[in-house]
Amino acid sequence: MNSATRVLVTGAGGFIGHHLVKRLKAEGYWVRGVDIKAPEFEPTAADDFQLLDLRFWHNTLQATAHVSQVYNLAADMGGIGYITSKLADIARNNILINAHMLEAARLNGVKRYLYSSSACVYAGSKQNVADVTPLKEEDAYPADPEPGYGWEKLFTEQLCQYYRSDFGFETRVVRFHNVYGPLGTYEGGKEKAPAAICRKVAMAEPDGVIDIWGDGKQTRSFMFIDDCVEGLLRLMASDYREPLNLGTEEMVSVDQLVDIVSSIAGKRLRKRHQLDRPQGVRGRNSDNSRLRTVLGWQPATTLRTGLEVTYGWIEGELYDAGRLNAEMACAGV
Ligand code: NAD
Repeated sequence: MNSATRVLVTGAGGFIGHHLVKRLKAEGYWVRGVDIKAPEFEPTAADDFQLLDLRFWHNTLQATAHVSQVYNLAADMGGIGYITSKLADIARNNILINAHMLEAARLNGVKRYLYSSSACVYAGSKQNVADVTPLKEEDAYPADPEPGYGWEKLFTEQLCQYYRSDFGFETRVVRFHNVYGPLGTYEGGKEKAPAAICRKVAMAEPDGVIDIWGDGKQTRSFMFIDDCVEGLLRLMASDYREPLNLGTEEMVSVDQLVDIVSSIAGKRLRKRHQLDRPQGVRGRNSDNSRLRTVLGWQPATTLRTGLEVTYGWIEGELYDAGRLNAEMACAGV
């Protein structure tokens, strides 16, 4: 049991943070969750949940008081449409959160601090083809990250390193590659591709049409939430201080992603590609060599297995909300 260890999870009202709080509680930790909003789909499992805006210094001091570990997941973020249209807001909000959180955690004597970075730090020039070479940690330099969101993540990675070298402050930096699973936002503009596709497939007629952003040939890898949370705990417990990929190496095109979800739903859908919508880099995949070496472990859930769970949950949510009829909901309900 870890009941003596007091942990702060920021972004605990969000997707990954909410799952992480549940896991930490199951492991016996004392957990404080902080966010500007409560979790959307079920109550938090945290011992103490505080609604605080972490862009403000005094709130970061309050959030980090009397804890020994911090998982800093709070961020202004969303899917590709959102992060490409709000460059100034995202960069300003996130740098305020992260600069204040690091300093407040240091002043409050936090022993270990994990920062959630992103595959969006990787150089755009190394992601120009769909059949992309998987990205190793050193591929973030020379720097050419995603505008706004990615530049801020890359700078905060550096800030973590400066806190380590100047103050001996123990930081860990994880670079997530596309996390998906139940209890994640699936509509409204902030959802990511797997959730958006599950929603569109669930709401389509069995032989209908669905709209897809881009030409469908752009590639990505996707990590199931349970693997993500497992990796976070393992990285926090490790002595590894440099940025580390956390993702899968199972790369698919967006068209293939749609085909998997359609087959889970038992539907034969026609794809309508929307070439004027944002699609991000052409190809992106994780190279997990260092992850395997450092943690002796890597995510194991196959995309199909993770999508079955995710699709079942999103379909159930839509069904419960009265937005699907029995004919449209073919699986999972
Ligand atoms: P999310 O949007 O579900 O959660 C982020 C949470 O941060 C939200 O609940 C939001 O309300 C909160 N937040 C935003 N501004 C805040 C503020 N000023 N004060 C306090 N809380 C604030 O996103 P997520 O998918 O759970 O992502 C968690 C972290 O992982 C983020 O740092 C994100 O950048 C990073 N990340 C996620 C993915 C992914 O695929 N989900 C990929 C790469 C990186």
